Amino acid sequence: MHSDDAARLSPGEPHRISAGLRTRFAEEFGRDPDGVWFAPGRANLNGEHVDFHGGRCLPMALAHGTYVAAAPRQDGLLRLRTLDPELDDGVQTLSLAAVAAVMSDDGAEAGEPATITDVHTIVPGQISGWTWYVAGTLWALARVGEEAPELAVPEDFGADLLICSTLPIGGGLSSSAALECSAMLAFVALATPLGAANRGTALDAALDDELRARLAAACMRAEVEVVGAGTGGLDQTVSLRGRAGHVVSLDCRDFTVERLPMDGLLAEHAFLAIDTRQAHWLGDGQFDDRRADSEAAMRLLGVDRLRDLLPEHPEPGDVDAALARFDTLVGGDELEGCDELTGCAEALEGRSTAACRRRLRHALTEMLRSEQLDRILTDEELEPTTAAAEVGRILTAGHASMRDDAEVSFPAADALVGTVSEVGALGARLIGGGFGGSVLALVPRDREDAVIGAAARVCQEQGFTAPRFLHVEPSAPARVVG
Ligand code: ADP
Ligand code: MG
Repeated sequence: MHSDDAARLSPGEPHRISAGLRTRFAEEFGRDPDGVWFAPGRANLNGEHVDFHGGRCLPMALAHGTYVAAAPRQDGLLRLRTLDPELDDGVQTLSLAAVAAVMSDDGAEAGEPATITDVHTIVPGQISGWTWYVAGTLWALARVGEEAPELAVPEDFGADLLICSTLPIGGGLSSSAALECSAMLAFVALATPLGAANRGTALDAALDDELRARLAAACMRAEVEVVGAGTGGLDQTVSLRGRAGHVVSLDCRDFTVERLPMDGLLAEHAFLAIDTRQAHWLGDGQFDDRRADSEAAMRLLGVDRLRDLLPEHPEPGDVDAALARFDTLVGGDELEGCDELTGCAEALEGRSTAACRRRLRHALTEMLRSEQLDRILTDEELEPTTAAAEVGRILTAGHASMRDDAEVSFPAADALVGTVSEVGALGARLIGGGFGGSVLALVPRDREDAVIGAAARVCQEQGFTAPRFLHVEPSAPARVVG
């Protein structure tokens, strides 16, 4: 079987997509949009399930992403439509005031999904789940604006938005953050004094890294507090703060970033994302369950975040030492006192000790892999082929950890990782939260077609959904398209 061009997802040509979206917007809302804003999805080289533990993540912004055409309103209403065929249900209407009411009064506590029934009673018309990502983003921007006058949102602000994406939705490439971050730019442009003072593409320059970090934190609040997903900020950070040709090395202890150039490595090699088309849904509880296991281990070990168990420059022995400490704490014989045993039972809250240990091992080895990759990618002396071999090896080790310790892999991902490695990929792993999503492979450029062909074939032979392929080109962050 030949690799099928139809199975390749192209990022498209931004200005052409923008022009098409403007036309559709005018048809839908009866007026021209004020602009079109774009935010990319991401592929994470390493660092899954560790952002909320202060670990390092190594994401790249994709050329694929989400486009929002928008124009302001003065009646506090959001009127939203997505052109994604699976989610499009016509124009959805909701009000920021209603979101604010749900969040403050009977409120969703952090991490719990907001109850949408209240909005139904206040706002005429149907709303569906995806609109909460957008409404949550405006709600979170309004909170930022209370502290930062240049980002203040007037009470009566509203907007019409038309949304389209070149990303798989729910494919582990962060369409959710791309939606939040593109909507965020539209809202900043249309609602705030900063947007008024920096019309059009001037906004890109006005949004320095500090402001982008602030907006990323707000987008994360939208996803955690309004939508109720357990995201740790990695996705939003790279979407707003990535750089073309670079991997972002993000220290999730304080959200500082370094951008590591990839031109050496990518001269002869390329990253390929394989969308398994098994959508993962973070909201279905499994991701949260894995996170809860690791947090139980964290409490047992008496730290606020698992990264604090490792030194600044960790080595494998440091991971072993932390695991040994866990074993000591749960192995009754070696306990120093009963108090500690009681504390242990409380910390794990009835969760399986073995499962908590596996989550702990995933988090610690994943953090170690990130530090190792960071060292490889900053080592200017290293030959690109040697660096590529090392990166590939660490990718595959990361997959084993996702499969055996995080236990978030699934048969199609395991088959794809095995197959692509057999036909020339230097390494591959599941990326994203797991339970579906995408596999990221590092391939020699001259083997890319062969890898795509083999990946398509193994899915067909084993009865998995036909995958789709995205060429991963580390790309520029969220921006004004025009
Ligand atoms: P991922 O971020 O890996 O793609 P998530 O489950 O985190 O997967 O986010 C997917 C959800 O985000 C969708 O179910 C939908 O609610 C929302 N979403 C993402 N992109 C769009 C879009 N273009 N239009 C409407 N909703 C979207
Ligand atoms: Mg997501």
